[in-house]
Amino acid sequence: MRDGSTSELFERLESNVRLYCRHFPEIFSSGRGSWLFTPDGRKFLDLLTGAGALNYGHNEPAIMRRLVDYILGDGVIQSLDFYTTAKADFLDTFERVILKERKLEYKVQFPNTTGANAVEAALKLARKVTGRHTVAAFTNGYHGMSLGALALSSNARARAAAGVPLGNVVFWPYESALGPEVDTIKAIEAALCSLPMAERPAAAIIELVQGDGGLDCVSGRWLQRLAELCRANGVLLIVDDIQAGCGRTGRFFSFEQMGVVPEMVLLSKSLSGFGTPFSLVLMRPDLDVWEPGEHTGTFRGNNLAFVGAKAALDIFWSDNCFESAIQTRAVAFGQTLAQLEAGAPDQLKKKGRGLITGLEFNRAELAAAASQQLFGRNIIAETCGVSGQTLKFLPPLNIEISELNFALQEIRGVVEELCERKEFA
Ligand code: PMP
Repeated sequence: MRDGSTSELFERLESNVRLYCRHFPEIFSSGRGSWLFTPDGRKFLDLLTGAGALNYGHNEPAIMRRLVDYILGDGVIQSLDFYTTAKADFLDTFERVILKERKLEYKVQFPNTTGANAVEAALKLARKVTGRHTVAAFTNGYHGMSLGALALSSNARARAAAGVPLGNVVFWPYESALGPEVDTIKAIEAALCSLPMAERPAAAIIELVQGDGGLDCVSGRWLQRLAELCRANGVLLIVDDIQAGCGRTGRFFSFEQMGVVPEMVLLSKSLSGFGTPFSLVLMRPDLDVWEPGEHTGTFRGNNLAFVGAKAALDIFWSDNCFESAIQTRAVAFGQTLAQLEAGAPDQLKKKGRGLITGLEFNRAELAAAASQQLFGRNIIAETCGVSGQTLKFLPPLNIEISELNFALQEIRGVVEELCERKEFA
């Protein structure tokens, strides 16, 4: 922290609960593209991007222009869930550019603005549709901090802070949870069959890349088998694409080309294109059994988010160019991480998919040290995983190739040096 008086302000006034600022104790004043800037002009390459909320980088200029024009034109900002032109334009573009292109048929619910809000809405709807109480979540998953979402999350420290029992959830093993020898679908099937139909879960909620849990992924075949099992047991399949969606894995949705169409999909984080809060629930049309106002809230018409989201869809998703650009960057990242793993196979494992990737270390201290050393080289990369064992990379999807090469060179330097150090061997 450079400015002592300002850091004293945060320590005195801001709750102890603050987290990321403790790992990256700088004060930032502006951002552009892949970079965050301090008031004295130093710059940091951002490979955390608001935990995946800035897939198009900071202050993407073409999106910013649309937002500025909208504000200067006295566009409606707060409108509850009134019909607005901004909402109509977003829905029309989302249907045309995303849903129809992928032959997907969903209705759209706008819950309040956070990811956890989308999770809560989906849970409530699944319970209403099925009349069942329990929801299945997966080992090491993360779905948010409100009580319903927290009940589905494996973060032990956050669960302990809930203050009330977190119930109505069963945990199923993720594909890789019990080691390569165990077919976890069979284990799930056995657990399901031991219950009468009415006691089986209303829904199963899953991340196809576990963003906070350590970057484990599921395969298409496993997901297809899960979907079949769910269908046979009246369990609605919900894909939480809050972190892995909006292009992170290389496609708009993480489940594309995996042979599965979930009953519900949750989006948030990068959906607004600009970091403005926004989330939505996509549901198969026949599941829309809500009565008017049965699940409501003040910030369900975030018009700035509608404008930003429409701009992002127009600019990045109207053709396949952006997907190819993500692919090029993902290949470069993947190659470097694979080389690092090959150089220290006992210490490192490459994790993730597309541009939600990372390196799992055999010891969590190594991952923490790597994150801190990268910060010393002006690169922001956080750790994830149950014990913080995985160094995680969420670069902007449109990161310049020169910036990407710089990041990979620094990551290589830090990781190789750490792996060679005796105390970590
Ligand atoms: N689901 C997933 C997969 C997430 O990664 C997150 C946030 N890390 C959430 C839900 C919760 O989102 P929010 O923090 O906006 O409530």
